[in-house]
Amino acid sequence: MEVRVRYAPSPTGLQHIGGVRTALYNYFFARSQGGKFILRIEDTDRERYSDESLQDLYDTLEWLGIKWDEGPVVGGPCGPYIQSERLELYQKYARQLVEDGKAYYCYCTPERLERLREEQAASKSRYQGYDRHCEHLSEEERRAAEAAGIKPVIRLKVPTEGSTTFHDVLMGDITRKNRDVSPDPVLLKSDGYPTYHLANVIDDHLMGITHIMRAQEWIPSGPLHILLYQAFGWEPPVYCHLPMVCGKDGQKLSKRHGDTAVRDFRAKGYLPEAILNYVTLVGWSLDGNREFFTRQELEKCFVLENIHVSSGTFDYKKLDWFNGQYIRMKSDDEIVELITPYLQKAGYISQDVTPEERRTLALLAPPLKERMKVLSDAVPLSAFLFHDEPCTDKAQYIAKGMDEKTTKEAFLHGSDILIEGEKAGKDFSALEEEIRALADQMGIKVNGIFQPIRVAITNSTVSLPLHDSIALLGLEETVRRIDRAKALFDQEV
Ligand code: GLU
Ligand code: ZN
Repeated sequence: MEVRVRYAPSPTGLQHIGGVRTALYNYFFARSQGGKFILRIEDTDRERYSDESLQDLYDTLEWLGIKWDEGPVVGGPCGPYIQSERLELYQKYARQLVEDGKAYYCYCTPERLERLREEQAASKSRYQGYDRHCEHLSEEERRAAEAAGIKPVIRLKVPTEGSTTFHDVLMGDITRKNRDVSPDPVLLKSDGYPTYHLANVIDDHLMGITHIMRAQEWIPSGPLHILLYQAFGWEPPVYCHLPMVCGKDGQKLSKRHGDTAVRDFRAKGYLPEAILNYVTLVGWSLDGNREFFTRQELEKCFVLENIHVSSGTFDYKKLDWFNGQYIRMKSDDEIVELITPYLQKAGYISQDVTPEERRTLALLAPPLKERMKVLSDAVPLSAFLFHDEPCTDKAQYIAKGMDEKTTKEAFLHGSDILIEGEKAGKDFSALEEEIRALADQMGIKVNGIFQPIRVAITNSTVSLPLHDSIALLGLEETVRRIDRAKALFDQEV
């Protein structure tokens, strides 16, 4: 039997970490089983639909390198793959259920349903929900309602006795009493649109879906879906509800924790390789040890059995670490390509990169590669090179455990060693040794010397390695900046 799985997002918001993880698991599972990965757009909620969300879905999957075998754009034998283009199908199947006595037309007006809700609330009745008023309408009553121009909905008959069980690969059997399943839910709305449940079940069946991997929040819908499969006389697929993605506090990942939209990660300069790798590990592991996987490797080794049962933690720091690792795996040329748009946006280099800018980029790439966590770090880390703004806040120059007086002394002697050494073409490691010796002699930490030099040259306490900064700026400019900072210290002390 060929494995057929689907990712079935509703284009009502940006693709977020949790959704993308669902897409990845489906995709990797399909690939590892030699099956098919189907993309289906569940866009029947017209109020919340947006073109932007749909575009964001396509962009995100493309950016991650996830290709679907069947779906919008590429087509396939079970199309169309956009639910709003399948309305007639849902209507046909819903009518079929009515004919088979598994569903019925309901003509209740919104006013009646509202009154019912109020009454139930007031009487604190154990029985909540639709009262099955229209289940046994007579033919005349039906006709009268039609004649009055009321457009009916179609409701599923949910059995009042017994219980419904479905099996989940990770969670085992999940059973619910039928009387706890929402009474007679709407399958087809009066405007001819299906509800999520109807469209979802019909499509999974018609598209030959063998395994359903989706977020755990859909578990409550499980019994109703099974009842629908039974009503149609269809075999349900295998279920595998995925553990939640949580923040470090154990709560479901949300904007409170930080970015959740993949688009925002991308804008900050996370690499698709890092997102794909790390997000897959939130809730899945091969052997509990191995951390690095390429997309191609996951396409081979992803198995359902290794999905964790308990929720996964999305750790932003860990993602940063992964991203840094993937940045360091890039070639210098690739880094140049990757940082260019960020430096252009900052106005540091021109839109049409000049040969001179290209040379600068080539020099910048290697030290940046070692320091960046995200590509946008290239902007603050290289700012010193593109615009000269002296740091006039003395406190910035003063390292922990130092004061103004010792800083001035450390700065004067340390920068002398550095400048003279650079002029003489000495090896940087030799200069570092000399500066270390100076620190020992002064009884201070070496950062007491490096920090003022760093701030003088780059106007920042975090920067590229000093040696690289000096090489990028040129010795003349470096000396100028150091002298300028010295003047600042000369003023008062
Ligand atoms: N359209 C649903 C969603 O956005 C699909 C749920 C499912 O996979 O069945 O999550
Ligand atoms: Zn009714």
